[in-house]
Amino acid sequence: MQEHILGITRKNIETLISGRFGSKSAPARANRLFEGLYGRGAVYAWPPQFPPEAHQASLEMIRESHDFTLPMRVSRSENSAMDGSSKLVMTLGDGREIETVLIPERGRLTQCLSTQVGCAQGCRFCQTGRMGLLRSLTAAEIVGQVIAAELWRREQSGVVSEYPRINNLVFMGMGEPLDNLDELLSAIDILTDTQGLQFSHNKITVSSVGLLPQLRRLLAESKACLALSLHSPFDAERSKVMPVNKAHPLAEVIEVLRENAESYGRSYMIQYTMLKNVNDSTAHAEALATLLKGLKVKINLIPLNEHEGAAFRRPELARIWSFRDVLKSCGHVVTVRLSKGRDIAAACGQLIKKTTP
Ligand code: SF4
Repeated sequence: MQEHILGITRKNIETLISGRFGSKSAPARANRLFEGLYGRGAVYAWPPQFPPEAHQASLEMIRESHDFTLPMRVSRSENSAMDGSSKLVMTLGDGREIETVLIPERGRLTQCLSTQVGCAQGCRFCQTGRMGLLRSLTAAEIVGQVIAAELWRREQSGVVSEYPRINNLVFMGMGEPLDNLDELLSAIDILTDTQGLQFSHNKITVSSVGLLPQLRRLLAESKACLALSLHSPFDAERSKVMPVNKAHPLAEVIEVLRENAESYGRSYMIQYTMLKNVNDSTAHAEALATLLKGLKVKINLIPLNEHEGAAFRRPELARIWSFRDVLKSCGHVVTVRLSKGRDIAAACGQLIKKTTP
């Protein structure tokens, strides 16, 4: 199968050109081709038209060896009447489907991206986890999600069309991003390239349950922001909700964050899905505050988005506020995400494809 053009980094284009035509002009030729593909939004007029100044023999070689069809298309969309969010169902080349969500909020248009079809982690409160893992996405399919969503957005007349472009990316859709780390890192490289789409690293957030050693590698090789899904400060209880905790206990994961924070002064987002009578007590809030003491974190409380067949319930608002206040009184920065897109099942933990080929 041919490699897809959207999955190739500028460095890789340079290597290909250098292998065929020598290394002297390879960096400049690769820059031209990459810029011709992505620069100034060229890629949003798919298929891309390369400028005449591109080195034609290099372009010919890349065209011959790479797939230039869009790796997915938007097959269905649903718009939230509550908050203007849009859930897009995208069909991949093999007929499988993934979901991605566009969230307009305070001058920012965020896309929530999927990295896998399904997920192997099996977190008990999550719809995607119930699917199991069907396959991981390629870097081209991850980048293609952004291109296809932006192309779709440009044809709309609703809230999302009022934004100049998608400008914030969160890897919080279907799948555990660190279970697909090589492809994720290549995709981030392509999305942030200064000759290309120019997403800023601090406008990209990768969510993870805390797989080791992949977490260490992500922190060492990428400047993207990390959002750690924590969900309980107690090991035994976290293992019941998130099976990954049995292999990678909380203390080891938090240690990696501390080591990295000491070396690079890095800050983190902590995601905490609130489950009624499971992890929403004052004792949980106090233990969470202690666990994170000394780390620069923003704690994002996510009251459960209940779904069909869910084993857990969403706590009442009073409980959510009192949990938040305990954390705040310990000096932590806390936000409560009363999730967007709940009416179209596009909120956290609700993405699922019921039928797959
Ligand atoms: S919460 Fe994330 S890691 Fe856990 S099962 Fe769902 S998609 Fe996978």
